Amino acid sequence: MSKNKSSESVKVVVRCRPLNRKEESNGPAGGIVQMDLRLGQVILRNPRAPASEPQKTFTFDAVYDANSKQRDLYDESVRPLIDSVLAGFNGTIFAYGQTGTGKTYTMQGAWLDPEKRGVIPNAFDHIFTHISRSQSDRQYLVRASYLEIYLEEVRDLLDPNHGNARALELRESPESGVYVRDLTSCVCKSIKEIEEVMNVGNQARAVGATDMNEHSSRSHALFLITVECSQPGPDGRKHIRVGRLNLVDLAGSERQAKTGVQGERLKEAAKINLSLSALGNVISALADGRSSHVPYRDSKLTRLLQDSLGGNAKTVMVATLGPAPQHYDETLTTLRYANRAKNIQNQPRVNEDPKDALLREFQREIARLRAQLNHRKWRSKQKKEQVEGEGWERDGDEETEDEEEVEKEAEDYVKLEEQRLEREKEAIREDQFLLAEEKQRLLGENKRMMGDLRKEQEATEQLTAKYKAMESKLLVGGKNIMDHTNEQQKMLEMKRQEIAEQSRSEREMQQKMLVQDEETVELRETFTSLQQEVEAKTKKLKKLYAKLQCIKAEIQDVNDEHVRSRQELEQTQNELTRELKFKYLIIENFIPPEEKNKIMNRLTFDPEEDQWKFQPLVPAESKSSQMKKRPTSAVGYKRPISQYARVAIAMGAHSRYRAENIMFLELDMTPPNTASLDRSTEVEPNQSHSLDNSPTKDRGVRKSRSWCQNPKSITSSSSNVSLAACHTATPMAAQ
Ligand code: ADP
Ligand code: MG
Repeated sequence: MSKNKSSESVKVVVRCRPLNRKEESNGPAGGIVQMDLRLGQVILRNPRAPASEPQKTFTFDAVYDANSKQRDLYDESVRPLIDSVLAGFNGTIFAYGQTGTGKTYTMQGAWLDPEKRGVIPNAFDHIFTHISRSQSDRQYLVRASYLEIYLEEVRDLLDPNHGNARALELRESPESGVYVRDLTSCVCKSIKEIEEVMNVGNQARAVGATDMNEHSSRSHALFLITVECSQPGPDGRKHIRVGRLNLVDLAGSERQAKTGVQGERLKEAAKINLSLSALGNVISALADGRSSHVPYRDSKLTRLLQDSLGGNAKTVMVATLGPAPQHYDETLTTLRYANRAKNIQNQPRVNEDPKDALLREFQREIARLRAQLNHRKWRSKQKKEQVEGEGWERDGDEETEDEEEVEKEAEDYVKLEEQRLEREKEAIREDQFLLAEEKQRLLGENKRMMGDLRKEQEATEQLTAKYKAMESKLLVGGKNIMDHTNEQQKMLEMKRQEIAEQSRSEREMQQKMLVQDEETVELRETFTSLQQEVEAKTKKLKKLYAKLQCIKAEIQDVNDEHVRSRQELEQTQNELTRELKFKYLIIENFIPPEEKNKIMNRLTFDPEEDQWKFQPLVPAESKSSQMKKRPTSAVGYKRPISQYARVAIAMGAHSRYRAENIMFLELDMTPPNTASLDRSTEVEPNQSHSLDNSPTKDRGVRKSRSWCQNPKSITSSSSNVSLAACHTATPMAAQ
C-alpha cells in the first residue's frame, strides 16, 4: 500500500441515549436534544429560555439518536477506522461525555447480548474475522494491553498485582512515539483470548475501586491493540505493517466541584480532571490552528494521545449526550467541545517496516529454532545411516528428501539405538567369560550411553515444544481461526457495509448542498420588479439577522463560560497559594537554613515524570570508577598506608606501628661508646641527630631514635661520628 501523507480531520459523531426511567418520571418535559439523522445535525433546546429564542444547531459527521443500534454506529463510523488499522494505520476511538450518558455503553456495551455489544467487542470480531479471511501468504501478530489513568498515574490493568503495582512511566521514542514503559502486552490468537484479556482488566479495575461508579467516572481506560501483518511485497521480501488501535473510555466530563476542599483532597480534585482539561486545551490549540504551542505535555492522557490528536493517526470521537433538561449546560459544553474537535487535522500514514516490529523478531526466532531442530534431526538421521552402514550409498540425494522423512528417520534412529543398547546390556549380563568388574564397567558405560541418548531426545523435544509454541503465536491468514459464517452471511455483511457507506456519503452530500444553497440562492433569483427584489432582500436580511442573534448569543455563552472557568482557576490558585504559604512557614521556621540550602542544591526537576527529585550524592556516571579506584597510597597494599609504615616494612619490622611507638622510651643501659674521637672532623651544627660527644652527658640519659631515619641516607649525608653512633645504637635498640 502506498503511503498516504495527506491530512484528514478528526471524525466526530454524537450519540444521545434514551431518557431513563427516573428522567421520564421527572415530568413530561421530554428531551432537549433533537437530531436530524439525514443531515447529521443536533438541535439543542434551552429549557430555561423563552420559546422565541432560536435553538442551537450543530453539525457533525454523523449523529445517533435514542433509537440507534450499536451495530449502526459500528458499521458507519468505526468499521472504516478498524479497516485502516488492519492496513497499518494508527487509529483512535474515544468516547467523551458526562457520566451516565453512555460512554461505557458505547465502547463496551452488554457483552452477552449480540445486539448490544459495543465498539470494543465488535472490533475484536472484525479484526479476527479479517485475519481468517485474508490470504494465506500473510502472517499476523495481535497484541493487547489495557491501562487506566487515575489521579494522573498510569496503571497496568493486566499486571497480576495491579493493586500494589507502581505507577508506570511514559517514554518517548522516535519510532513509536509516546509509549508506556513496562506495560504488559498479551499476544492474542483468537477472539476468546482477547476477550479474556479485556475481562481480566475490567476485573482489576473493579477490584481496585471501592465505588466502581465513582472510580470509572474519574479514570480514563485505554485498551490498546497492536496488529502486525507481514506480507510479501512486489520485491519478494516480506514487509511488515503495524497498526495500533487505541480504544479510550474517558472519565466523565462534568466539572468536579473543587470548592471547599483543602490539602490532599484539593490536590486530588485538581488531578481528577487535569487530563480532561488538558485534552480540552490541546483540542482548542489544534482547532485554532494559530497557536504554535500545543500543550501535550500537560497531562498523561494528552501525551498518550499525542499521535491521535494532530499526529499520525485516524481518529474518531464519539461524544455522548443525555437528553434530560437538567443537564442542559453540560450537554452544551459537550457539543461545543465536539464541535471544536472537528477542526483538528491529522496526518495518518501507514507504518511500514518499523524497527520495533515484534513480528520480525518472532519470525527470526522461529527460523533460528527451526534451523536448530533440523540440524539435530539431520545428525540423528546420519547416525542412523552410519549404524546401518549405508551412509556412503545415499550421500547424494540428501537434499531431495523432505522434512517429514528426515523427522521419521531421526525418530527411527532413536528407537534403533535404544534397542541396540538394550541388547548390548543383556549380552554383557549373560556373558560368562567376562570378569565381574569388567562387566560392571561395561554396564556402566552402557547406562551412560543410554542416559546421553535420553538427554538428547529430551532436548530435541523441548526445542520442538518451544518452536511450536512460538509458531502458534503467529496467525496465518485464512488459517488458525475457523470462519463458520457461510457465503450468505458474508454477502449480508458486505451489503450492510455498502449501505453504511452510502448513507455516509449521502449525508456528506446533503451537508454540502445545504451550505451551497445558502450561498447561491441569491444568484439563481432574478428579479422582475423592484418590489420583488425588496421582498427577497428583506427575507434574506431577516435570515441573516437571526443568524447574527445566534452568533451573539453564542459569544455571550462562550464569554460566560470563560468567566466561570477563570473564576474557578483563580479560586484554585488562591487555595494553592494558601497551601504554599503554609509550607513556607514551616520551612522558614523549623528547618535550619544550611540544611535547607543543602536540600535545595540537591533537588532537580525531572520533566519526564513531572516531579522534583534528589540528585545522588555521588554523580551517577563517576560513581563506579570512583568507587573502584584505590587511593595512590594503597597500591599494592590491603589498605591505605602511611609513609612511616612503609619505611618500617622496608626495614623488615612490624608495619603497624603507631605514632606513639615512633620513639624508644626505655632506658638504655648499655655502656656508652668511649672510643676516642678524632677532633679534627668538625660536626656540622645543623645535624639534628649529632651526638654530644661528652661521655658524661651520655650516661644515664634517655636515648631516642626515630624509625624514620634511614641508615642509608644518614651514610650519605652525615659525618663519620654520627655514622658510628648510629651503628652502635641499632643493635642496642634491638636488644
Ligand atoms: P458512562 O460510561 O458515560 O458513565 P454508561 O455507559 O455507564 O455511562 O451508561 C449509563 C446507563 O445508560 C447504563 O445503564 C446504560 O445501559 C444506559 N445507556 C447508555 N447509552 C444507552 C443507549 N444508547 N441505549 C440504551 N441504554 C443506554
Ligand atoms: Mg463509564
